[in-house]
Amino acid sequence: MKAFAMLKIGSVGWIEKPKPTCGPLDAIIKPIALAPCTSDVHTVWAGAIGDRHNLTLGHEAVGEVVEVGSMVKDFKPGDRVIVPAITPDWNSLEAQGGYSMHSGGMLAGWKYSNTSDGVFAEYFHVNDADGNMALIPEGMDPAAAVMFCDMVPTGFHGAELAEVEYGDSVAVIGIGPVGLMSVAGAALRGAGRLFAVGSRPKCAEVARTYGATDIINYRNGDIVEQIMDLNRGPVDKVIIAGGDVDTFDQALAMLKPGGAIGNVNYLGEGDYIKLGRLNWGVGMGHKRINGGLMPGGRLRVQKLTAVMMAGRMDTGHLVTHRFNGLDSVETALMMMKDKPKDLIKPVIIA
Ligand code: NDP
Ligand code: ZN
Repeated sequence: MKAFAMLKIGSVGWIEKPKPTCGPLDAIIKPIALAPCTSDVHTVWAGAIGDRHNLTLGHEAVGEVVEVGSMVKDFKPGDRVIVPAITPDWNSLEAQGGYSMHSGGMLAGWKYSNTSDGVFAEYFHVNDADGNMALIPEGMDPAAAVMFCDMVPTGFHGAELAEVEYGDSVAVIGIGPVGLMSVAGAALRGAGRLFAVGSRPKCAEVARTYGATDIINYRNGDIVEQIMDLNRGPVDKVIIAGGDVDTFDQALAMLKPGGAIGNVNYLGEGDYIKLGRLNWGVGMGHKRINGGLMPGGRLRVQKLTAVMMAGRMDTGHLVTHRFNGLDSVETALMMMKDKPKDLIKPVIIA
């Protein structure tokens, strides 16, 4: 079969691979809709996880089940499913401890396009299929459904990690598709004033749709000053979904004592994260820093899609570009790398 792969750091291309085989707990999926992720860009062009050779890229796809293993109970060929980007081993001790995304070691629940072949292929493999797939809700557009593989679970996790509560003033740093879902997640958790930091006008417009009350352009000056001026002081919570190793210090500087930072940004470059001694209250500021990989799992996807099915949030606003045919994966990935002004997320209908 055809697969679109990372050939080595900085290089991608189409290669031939054997069709994956199905173990007793597994499933084989034929993609219906796929999306590239900024993480694919960090992986290939920043070498963020080290070198990989002929590794199939992609971790966002919904598709049709073509085969299930003998021990899979709840799915059958023909089912249309969402497969989260993170596919834990649900029997692992880490999963039993509540950290399924780290099953088998730190970040090891992230298999696709990291330690196993990803989803940009004619067929892909799902481990622990009963735990790692959820049906696409009746009537949901597959392009909107593919946002539940990574953008919704990651963005919403940012709001969880920042411990957003009713009435909190919240700053979301970075409003690409992940940050936009953090805006939506924070709004759904009852945020009060909600600052969204980004520079692209399309993202700013959609941030308002998802509940941002103020848009802050980091290209127009220091974001700490801009937010603290408008908020008349520090905010209750900060979600980081963009920026770099210097962003944490800005987040600390704009955060109240007792507040929390939720980071879901993938730090693709630099060896250390800078935390200002004074901004962290000389070590005693009661400012919590939580960073996490998105949780996977069927239940999680079912609950997140239920939010959309109840009409509380529409992932369709994230999909700015649509392509037809698996071959367009390459164009869509390059678009994700170049980030044209009007892009939020491109989707490929296979
Ligand atoms: P994007 O690149 O689309 O968005 C990044 C955002 O950060 C943009 O709004 C950008 O602004 C803004 N930004 C860039 N530099 C700065 C800066 N110096 N200060 C403030 N804001 C800045 O990324 P995605 O939304 O696709 O993904 C966000 C991150 O989440 C990525 O690192 C991705 O790898 C990671 N991720 C993490 C996962 C997890 O499980 N934890 C899963 C999936 C993704 P502008 O408007 O100028 O573009
Ligand atoms: Zn991703």
